[in-house]
Amino acid sequence: MEKESGMQFESKCVHSGIGEYEHGAVVPPIYQTSTFKFETTHYGASLFSGEQKGYYYTRINNPTIEALEDAIAALEGGHKALGCASGMAAIHTVFATFLEAGDHVICSQSVYGPTNTLLRTIFHKFGVVTTFVDTSNSENVHKAILPNTKMIYVETPGNPTLMISDLEEISKIAHANDALICVDNTFMSPALQRPFEFGVDIIIHSMTKFLNGHADVVAGVVVVKNEDHYLKCRKVLNQTGGVIDPFNSFLVHRGLKTLHLRMERHCENSLKVAKFLEAHELVSSVTYPGLESHPQYEIGLRQHKGHGGMITFELEGGFEAGETMMNSVKLCQLAVSLGGVESLIQHPASMTHFTMGLEARREASITEGMVRLSVGIENVDDLIADLDNALKVVKKTLVNQ
Ligand SMILES: *Cc1c(COP(=O)(O)O)cnc(C)c1O
Repeated sequence: MEKESGMQFESKCVHSGIGEYEHGAVVPPIYQTSTFKFETTHYGASLFSGEQKGYYYTRINNPTIEALEDAIAALEGGHKALGCASGMAAIHTVFATFLEAGDHVICSQSVYGPTNTLLRTIFHKFGVVTTFVDTSNSENVHKAILPNTKMIYVETPGNPTLMISDLEEISKIAHANDALICVDNTFMSPALQRPFEFGVDIIIHSMTKFLNGHADVVAGVVVVKNEDHYLKCRKVLNQTGGVIDPFNSFLVHRGLKTLHLRMERHCENSLKVAKFLEAHELVSSVTYPGLESHPQYEIGLRQHKGHGGMITFELEGGFEAGETMMNSVKLCQLAVSLGGVESLIQHPASMTHFTMGLEARREASITEGMVRLSVGIENVDDLIADLDNALKVVKKTLVNQ
């Protein structure tokens, strides 16, 4: 990775993980092969013993996957990265590597749903106990520390509340207590937030979102700071098998080249959309890290180079208003997931969290009028017009009631 030293972030997006290839190809070829043949038994033996470096089976390593891993490690400023089949496979790899029966974990309350479930059910079954706290107040983390606390797991901004946690303060708490701090950096991407700069030990991404950016891949990654962590995670990932495949690696690597440009436009559009929503009579509140009204706006300014592409807002008119708005947008796509070039909108109460019922939603702080918007890179006036039209329909139905 000699040619990368000294490059600025934007150049790293374009050039990281790219080497010299046969025929002068400028992008890494897709080695769509499950296995690699050996010239001799002796050579095979030297690969298995680790005496020589080379490829022998794609679950273990593959040049197309490695190219992507090198690129992500460079963008996060880490030592090495491990490509995984999904964001959840990456999170599982980290938990399975560093946790064992009897360990305690402190996790952000506002965290991607399946991460919460993974800790509460599967890892709980194996004897790992988790305390969920509001990590946007570092004092809560400090208070939750136990003698067996092994890991602090933070998502910032957290899903779906967009609460921001102070990575520098929480890293200090973790290290003073011999615990690891792991951060899910999916919502920001390294273009906007580089957790290693604040003392974080391990970074996880769902590459399905901003890193790939085109809504056509499910993938994840773990980024580590030292060889010891790398070897430990690699062993677990290779044994449990949740690896990324060569074709998806190629697609994500291609997506990375425009990461800096996409993030810039996501941020620019989001701030304008957030301000439009904040001023709208049918919107009672807007949460966006770039608004001064955000409760951790100051922490965000220290920690982010931009405020991201995710907005949560609350509609007057609750459940019905949410449903009506969802069925009235045209440019914004009605879908879960986030971080793609296209704007995606979703109403948890009538969609992802519908089956849990009103009471359970209330307990989980999923309000009836809550809408989550992943702002894409379309023309912002088109986006605002689409939201404005949908809100006009909402207004009409509210008046008619
Ligand atoms: C989507 C997401 C995940 C899970 O990633 P998959 O690729 O869907 O497995 C984890 N964390 C956050 C913050 C996410 O948005």
